[in-house]
Amino acid sequence: MGSAHIGFKSLMRKFKAVLQPGCQPLVHRVVGYADIANDWAPDLRFLVRVGSAEEREGVERLQNTGLTNIFWAEDAALEDGDVAVPNPHQEEVVVLFRESDTHHSLFMTNRCNSYCLMCSQPPTAADDSWLVEEAIDAVRHLRKSPDVLGLTGGEPLLLGVGLRRVLDAVAVHHPSTRVEVLTNGRLFANSKIASQILEDLTVSVKWLIPLYGHADFVHDFVVQTPGAFDETLAGLLLLQMHRQEIQLRVVLIEPVLQVLPELAGFVGRNLPFVREIALMGCEPIGFALANRDLCEVDLSEWASTLELSARVLRRHDIPHLLMNAPLCALPQRLWPVAHRSISDWKNVYAQECESCAVKSDCAGLFAWHEKGWKPAPLKTIEESEVVS
Ligand code: SF4
Repeated sequence: MGSAHIGFKSLMRKFKAVLQPGCQPLVHRVVGYADIANDWAPDLRFLVRVGSAEEREGVERLQNTGLTNIFWAEDAALEDGDVAVPNPHQEEVVVLFRESDTHHSLFMTNRCNSYCLMCSQPPTAADDSWLVEEAIDAVRHLRKSPDVLGLTGGEPLLLGVGLRRVLDAVAVHHPSTRVEVLTNGRLFANSKIASQILEDLTVSVKWLIPLYGHADFVHDFVVQTPGAFDETLAGLLLLQMHRQEIQLRVVLIEPVLQVLPELAGFVGRNLPFVREIALMGCEPIGFALANRDLCEVDLSEWASTLELSARVLRRHDIPHLLMNAPLCALPQRLWPVAHRSISDWKNVYAQECESCAVKSDCAGLFAWHEKGWKPAPLKTIEESEVVS
């Protein structure tokens, strides 16, 4: 199972580690050597961080007393509370969840029923349904309840009842956690699947659903799937019937920017029930690199389109936010709606950012901008330039 993670490089964090022989490639909670007595529970697995021969021997003594669910790992990069899968054959550990991160998400499947131009995680057809069991196990192993837990893919709705089982596991083990499911929403057009997943749901879920145009010719082109626009709209209406919270997601690639004001008006007129709409800079990875001519945009050249679209959304009272967009790429009028949105471990800043007055509020860059492109030429902002 552990080696199957290797294909999901962009979503997983991996560390080299010296692992105790015999540990299994299953979900474990990482715990410090000094805390094992406090944290230990019979129904969980533990990876004990050790830093010396004495600590390794201490873990082995505990094993000899009958604690068969603990193994030691020597790795400075692991943190207490990590939920991780050791891979003894590769001498590495995949961290599925890190408490100290700002954003948390679990990877549900690499399969998808769309084929988006800018997909950051190109889909594969292989059966990866074991990821459902891993996600449920990860939820059980979380030491603290996160405020928000993302579920992502691939397309999580393809899991049907499997997705519902993960949502129910969150409800049981972490009732205060809110879940955000990133889905194209198309399978919610099927009322049987919608009922399987939504009926009597007790956990609080926000559904993050991409919409790339005000008409099928744009949306279906971007997701490379005829009929997707109609299915997504039917799915959105079904979610509304089930009183579910929806965030629409719009990735700012060229074909989408061309119609962004029309899309904003379409949402205002036809989907006024959505909680908010997120306008997102494109990640330069995966299919986006292959479709660079359509996906690489300099956001600073689209400032008037972004401002006009924001005005249309304001007129319709649709809350909106900007994600994955550095502040220096945006007009200052849009700064209040720009969020620090890039997951901690893939978030970097450039040399221009070092002395920038707004760095602490800025989304910065994806780590892979080095190999791809920057969302605009970066510009250090001086304190004196910031309009209060
Ligand atoms: S220079 Fe860096 S920190 Fe400053 S606004 Fe641009 S990307 Fe953000």
